Amino acid sequence: MSDIKELDIHGWEKVYVKELYGGYLAIIAIHNTNRGPALGGCRFFHYDNHPAKQMLALEDALRLSRGMTYKAAAANLPLGGGKSVIIRDFYEPIPGVRRNLFHSFGDFVESLKGKYITAEDVGTTTDDMVYVYERTSHVVGLPEEQGGLGDPSPVTAIGIAQAIKWFTENHFKKDPKDISVLVQGLGKVGWYLMEFLNEMGYRLLYTDVSQKKIDMAKEKYPDAQYVQPDDVFDVEVDIFSPNALGKVINHETVDKIKARVVAGAANNQVENRHVAQRLHERGILYAPDYTINLGGLTLVYYEYEHRQGKIDSKDKAKEIAIEKTKENVWKNLDEIIPLAIEKNISPYILADEIMEKRWK
Ligand code: NAD
Repeated sequence: MSDIKELDIHGWEKVYVKELYGGYLAIIAIHNTNRGPALGGCRFFHYDNHPAKQMLALEDALRLSRGMTYKAAAANLPLGGGKSVIIRDFYEPIPGVRRNLFHSFGDFVESLKGKYITAEDVGTTTDDMVYVYERTSHVVGLPEEQGGLGDPSPVTAIGIAQAIKWFTENHFKKDPKDISVLVQGLGKVGWYLMEFLNEMGYRLLYTDVSQKKIDMAKEKYPDAQYVQPDDVFDVEVDIFSPNALGKVINHETVDKIKARVVAGAANNQVENRHVAQRLHERGILYAPDYTINLGGLTLVYYEYEHRQGKIDSKDKAKEIAIEKTKENVWKNLDEIIPLAIEKNISPYILADEIMEKRWK
């Protein structure tokens, strides 16, 4: 570990910094390991060649690793929170360099002896994770032929569908056929979500900015209603499900929204706690993003268990991941929503307090 610098930052267990092959600087932030090893993706980002790019990368690693501690607790997994960032310049590394770079990152991860488990994130690919895997077993989200369990998006969508079911039974107390859901974004998660909600019998509305996705949805769901992307806050619906971008509920949109419930996969869909509190004051219930979009994390955790020989088949590992996802989304909403109503405080704020009790 001699070429690794260790930083002590209040509130984080440890931050490690190392220069990798080709001079690329890597940061691994370990926020907390009380529940288990710190899992979190590896970001490969250029930070616009900003003079303080090392500080920006460190800020990202700190913020995102902390978020992973809360998400692992929400998923009730024996995991803590971590994140890594490799700073790149404007140019894509040439293929040979990329392989050597991710080999040296794999060595960095291996030197932490399982305290940190890495995965794909913004700027990294499954191929990069295969390079990492050539040097360490502490990596998840591998291709299926290398022991991975496939695309996590359908499992994420199962968690969102489960959250919508929770509100249908516990809040609306109605049949799915009497509940309308607007799905924003028909990407990897939203497309599966439409499929599950359609099977469950919901009245569906959808929007996307891609004409191809809109055409596909029109053909597959002729009874569902298409909504223009800019009109999502003008339509009367029971549930709004954001599965596209962050910050869709912000200072400008919070007073326009007509839905009674917000539940979707998009990370950071509510801009901040003030917007969340306003949403709450308007009587709109919000399922905090990380307490329901935990299916993907759950799947990669069971991939790791399977590869360690703790679960004998991939099918079994996938089956467990789906069951645990459903169970934990239900449990989270059972814990958060009634208490938020009783205490008259936004679920956004309350969720963090509840999750802290699980890992502190
Ligand atoms: P994706 O990129 O596959 O899909 C996003 C979709 O949103 C695309 O079809 C895009 O055309 C559409 N879109 C973009 N801007 C839009 C707009 N203004 N209005 C309507 N539609 C718009 O992404 P994804 O993997 O489906 O993830 C969706 C969100 O969920 C992201 O915020 C992601 O971080 C989060 N998330 C995903 C997973 C997962 O397993 N994929 C897990 C946790 C969280």
